[in-house]
Amino acid sequence: MTGKDPHIHVERRVARSGGAVRGLLASTFGLVADSPSTVTTGCGIDVPYAMTSQRPESVTCLACREHAHREHLRFAEQIEMLSGMPGSPVTAAQAARAAEQHRDLAARYAR
Ligand SMILES: [Zn+2]
Repeated sequence: MTGKDPHIHVERRVARSGGAVRGLLASTFGLVADSPSTVTTGCGIDVPYAMTSQRPESVTCLACREHAHREHLRFAEQIEMLSGMPGSPVTAAQAARAAEQHRDLAARYAR
């Protein structure tokens, strides 16, 4: 508890909270994500929501960048699996596009 952490972090559930996926999840699972006042970060601390970012270029915490990189790659695979399930409301084309977005984000976190 330093009170003056200068870094910008990512939410622990970074891949699931992004705007591109929010609508997809809402239509798939009936979930609607809200924006809490504090969040747990990828590096395991609690910070005000304002100290997090969903833009890879804005995240300065190295541990969070590595976390986000892994999360986006893993989520891309999950989306593709989801689209292959019987009765899935997500088409293969939608899943491919979403997975591509997450792989792109993963690459941006790895820079
Ligand atoms: Zn962090």
